[in-house]
Order: sequence, then C-alpha cells, then structure tokens
Amino acid sequence: MSEHTFATRVSRWYERNARDLPWRVPGVGAWAILVSEVMLQQTPVVRVLPAYEAWLARWPTPAALAADPPAEAIRMWGRLGYPRRAMRLHDCAVAIVERHGGEVPDRLEQLLALPGVGTYTARAVAAFAYGQRHPVVDTNVRRVVSRAVAGEPDAGPATRPADLVATEELLPAEPAEAALASAAFMELGAVVCTARSPRCAVCPVESICAWRASGQAAPAGPTRRPQRYAGTDRQVRGLLLAVLRESSGPVPRQRLDQVWTDDVQRSRALAGLVTDGLVEPAGGETFRLAGDGPAIPAPALDA
Ligand code: SF4
Repeated sequence: MSEHTFATRVSRWYERNARDLPWRVPGVGAWAILVSEVMLQQTPVVRVLPAYEAWLARWPTPAALAADPPAEAIRMWGRLGYPRRAMRLHDCAVAIVERHGGEVPDRLEQLLALPGVGTYTARAVAAFAYGQRHPVVDTNVRRVVSRAVAGEPDAGPATRPADLVATEELLPAEPAEAALASAAFMELGAVVCTARSPRCAVCPVESICAWRASGQAAPAGPTRRPQRYAGTDRQVRGLLLAVLRESSGPVPRQRLDQVWTDDVQRSRALAGLVTDGLVEPAGGETFRLAGDGPAIPAPALDA
C-alpha cells in the first residue's frame, strides 16, 4: 500500500467529515490544544466539551492558571475523573511560565520536558498547534494502523517505538499535510474504525485495507470489559474530593467520615489523595485541597 494513498484518502475524508470540535478551530492556540489533549485522554468528548470551555474561559493562558493555587484547578476539574490530570495541567502551566515566558513551547524536546506531558501529548501539541510532522499515536491510531496496514484485528500491547515508526511511515513528507493526516487517523479510529463495530462500508481506505482484504478474522484477544467504578477506591476518592471541592476551607475528618462507611477503605482513599498531592492535611484533624490556603507550618520537633 502506498503511504501517500492511505494518508491522502484519510485526510480528504477528514476534511469532509471531521466533527466540529472547538479545539480544532484554526488558530485556537497551543494552550487550548494542550488542555483539550489532557482532558480527552481518559474522558469522552461529550463530557470534555463543557469542561474545556469553562476552563479556557477562566484560564485562557498558562499564566492565568499558574497564578491560581492548584486547589482551584482541582475544583474546576469537577467530575471529569482522574483528577491528577488537573494537578498535572497546573504544574505544566507553572513550568511554561517559568521556563518559556508563558508560551507553550514548540520544540518536541521542550514539550516532553514539561511535567506530565508524555509521548502522545507532546507530539499532539507539536502537530496540531504548530503543524509539525510527528506520529501522533493513541489507541485509535494504533488500531487503524494495525488493521489497515498489518491486517491484524487488534493492535495488541503498546510498543511505543514500533508504533511510532509504523505510523510515521504513513505520514506525508510535508509537515502541514502530515499534521492533518495525524488528526485524520485519530478521527477515523474514533468514529469509523472503532474497536467493536468498524464501519468498513463507509471507510475511505476500505479498498486498500489489509484486514478487510483478509476477510476480517475475529479479534484474537478478549474483549475488554468496562472498568467497574461502584465500590472501588476511585469512587471513594471521588466522594471525598466532592466534599473538599465544595468547601471553602479546611474540612474536619468527621465530615469526611460521613461519605463512606468502610473505615479501612475510606482511610486508604484519603491517604491516596494525600500521597497524590491532591489533598493536604490542614492541621488539627482537618484536610483541604492542595494549596487551598496559606502554607501549614511544619510541627516543631522535640529537642
Ligand atoms: S476498512 Fe474497516 S477495518 Fe479497515 S480501516 Fe476501514 S474501518 Fe478499519
């Protein structure tokens, strides 16, 4: 298969069919793209949309976010889930201000050096904000490449260097075209070449897809079940955070004790929030969101 035939077909399809999403508006800016990428990592588009708009309305620049305490980022994160991402975005905003004068850097190595910015996010920002040629490989892209090029129904375990090479080989040489193709591959995997029900009849690469040509053998691996939430530590952490988010000051432990009856699980969840830096002790058996008030003096050590 010609790489350019593949990328060209998917890009032309994308130009006609891409979902109208605010982080794709031309000139939206690198900060907005970084925020959207972090939010989208573990949360569906429909839930990200209102949170993204509210976040950027409040903090349109990294400097605006960096000027507020991390507690405000955790509050604003609301119920998007996996709230450590709020802390990461805040840490990132501080680093962008301190190291790059408040501008999201455009060089891949500088992006990779930001706190919490990994292989995927750095390349996504470099490609989508700055029009650079980088393989942007998420789960959807791995699946598309695996099916269309390798003829395998599932991508199998992530092997980062191999995944990057396999996707880069499909990108056009011209940077802007490559960035467009990267967005197009992601969209194809998100809405057409889905994990469970690929819509091959409307796929722009149907006639050159290796998996389609092979007769579409059933996926070899077990189908992933959705993660359980009810009764997990994640649920308890969410309940504790909800109380702390709604409070404007330190919350007594007795108040937190009311959110969950299992003492062992509740204590473990609270300790986990403290370890993750989302919550901090505020003195006298009280707790608060990280940085939600003046620093607590360390207890005096006995002589
Ligand atoms: S033809 Fe089907 S399996 Fe192949 S890339 Fe398109 S949607 Fe995926």
